Amino acid sequence: MSDLIIFWHRRDLRLADNIGLAAARQQSPKVVGVFCFDPNILKRDDIALARVTYMMGCLQDLQQRYHQVGSQLLILHDEPSKAIPAVAVALQAKAVFFNWDVEPYSQKRDQLVSEALQEKGIAVHPSWDQLLHAPGEIRTNSGEPYKVYTPFWKKWQAQSKNDPVETLKDAEALTKKEQEIASSVGVVDLLTAKDLGYAWDNELLVAPGEQAAQETLELFCDRAINDYQEQRNFPGVDGTSKLSAALKFGAIGIRTVWQAASAAYSRSRSDETRDNIKTWQQELAWREFYQHGMYFFPELAQGPYREAFQDFPWDDDSELFQAWCEGKTGYPIVDAAMRQLDQVGWMHNRCRMIVASFLTKDLLINWQWGEKYFMQKLYDGDLSANNGGWQWSASSGMDPKPLRIFNPASQAQKYDPEAEYIRQWLPEVSSLDTEYLVTGKIPESEREACGYPAPIVDHKKRQQEFKRRYQQQKN
Ligand SMILES: Cc1cc2nc3c(=O)[nH]c(=O)nc-3n(C[C@H](O)[C@H](O)[C@H](O)COP(=O)(O)OP(=O)(O)OC[C@H]3O[C@@H](n4cnc5c(N)ncnc54)[C@H](O)[C@@H]3O)c2cc1C
Repeated sequence: MSDLIIFWHRRDLRLADNIGLAAARQQSPKVVGVFCFDPNILKRDDIALARVTYMMGCLQDLQQRYHQVGSQLLILHDEPSKAIPAVAVALQAKAVFFNWDVEPYSQKRDQLVSEALQEKGIAVHPSWDQLLHAPGEIRTNSGEPYKVYTPFWKKWQAQSKNDPVETLKDAEALTKKEQEIASSVGVVDLLTAKDLGYAWDNELLVAPGEQAAQETLELFCDRAINDYQEQRNFPGVDGTSKLSAALKFGAIGIRTVWQAASAAYSRSRSDETRDNIKTWQQELAWREFYQHGMYFFPELAQGPYREAFQDFPWDDDSELFQAWCEGKTGYPIVDAAMRQLDQVGWMHNRCRMIVASFLTKDLLINWQWGEKYFMQKLYDGDLSANNGGWQWSASSGMDPKPLRIFNPASQAQKYDPEAEYIRQWLPEVSSLDTEYLVTGKIPESEREACGYPAPIVDHKKRQQEFKRRYQQQKN
C-alpha cells in the first residue's frame, strides 16, 4: 500500500477551508482529488442547466487549483460505488477521505462506497464540513432534533463556531505510471457542461469557482450586509449576498462565511448595523435548520410532513401550472419572478415565497410540482433548502403555523412599490402605470395592447377555497 490518499469531492468544490481535505493532507503529503459524475444523478429529470454549468465551472477551477499546488483532480464517470473503490484499489490508496452530506440519496451512496472500500482493506475517513454545526449537535433539552426554527436558532447561535481550516497549499501528484493506471480504471478528461449535454447560454449570476465566491462574500460583508434586514425584502434591490450556489456546491467554506460576517459584526458601530448582520446570520441558520431536518426526517423529501396534507385535494390543473411556469398568470409580480427564474436560474427570496404561495393557495396545485420545477431551473437548487421553502410556503412542513397566504398585490405594493422589478422582468408591460402593475388591476384595453393576459384566477375566491379545503382536511 502506498502513501496515497484520495479525497473524494462532492459538494465541497474547493481547496480552502475544507475539513476533510485538510485532514487528508495532515495524514500524507500525497493527496489527489477525485470527482465522480454519478449517472444516477445525471439521469434525473430535475437537473437545471444553470446548476450543471455552475458546477462544471467550479470543477474546472478546482482542477486548475490542484494543478497549481502540485497535485491533480481526477475525473470519473460511473456509479460511485464501483468507480471510487476501483480507482482506490488500482492506485493502492491508503485511505479515502470525504465530507458527509445530509441528503437521503447521498447517505445511501456513501454507505455503499464506504462498505466497498473497507472490504478491500482501504480506510475511510468522513468528516462534517458543510455546516457550522453537524446534525445532532443542536438538540432540544430532551435530546430531540428541532422541528421549529426559532428555538433551533437560539441554541445554534449560542454555540461557538469553528475557524476556517487550513487551505491545501501543496501536495504530491500521481507518478506517470500511476496516471496510466488511473486512466485504465476509468479516469477521464473533464468535459464542459455543453459536452455533457447541458447548454446554458445565459450568464451566471455569480461566476463559478473559489475566487468569485470569496469576492462575492467580501463585497457583501463590506456593504449590503449592513442594511440587510430591510433591503433583503425588495426584489428590485441588490440587497442579498447571492452566495447560495457557492454554498450549495461548496465553492466557499461555511466557516469562512461565518468569520467574514462575524468580522463585519465586530467592526460595526451601531446596534442597528449589528441587527442587520444578525438577520443575515439567521439565514445561514435557516440553511442549517433545513439540512438538519432533512438528515433526521428524510421522509420530508418524499412528501408533506403534516398529516392534513397527506391526501390534500389539489386541483393539479396542468394549464394553470403551465401559465405559472411561463410567467403568464396575469399577476405581474408572480410573472416577473417566474421570468427571472427562467432567464437567470435564480429568484429573489421574497418572490420565491410569493410564487410558491400563489401556486399552492391560488392555483391549488400540489407544492411538489413547484418544488420540482424550481429544481429544474435554479442554479442554487438544493434539496433541503428547496423542500424546506416549499413545505413552509405550502404550510405542509414541520413549522406549526398553518396558513400563510400571500396576497400578490399587497406584496408588490409593499416590496416593489415603484414596480422596478416588475418592469425589469416583464418588458411587455414596462410602459404601464405603476399603480396598474403593483395592484395587478390593468384595464383590459391596456392589457390587450401589450399582449398581457388577464388574471387566470381570482385571488380572493381561491384563497377562500383553499381555506375551506384545508379546514375539511383538518377535520
Ligand atoms: C420556495 C422556496 C424555495 C427555495 N429554494 C432554495 C434552493 O433550492 N436553494 C437555496 O439555497 N435556497 C433556497 N431557498 C431559500 C432562499 O430563497 C435562497 O437561499 C436565497 O434567495 C438565495 O439568495 P442569496 O444567496 O442572495 O441569499 P441571502 O439572503 O444572502 O442568504 C444567505 C444564505 O443563507 C441561506 N438561506 C437564505 N435563506 C434561506 C432559506 N429560507 N432557507 C434555507 N437557506 C437560506 C442560503 O444559503 C443563502 O445563500 C428557497 C426559498 C423558498 C421560499
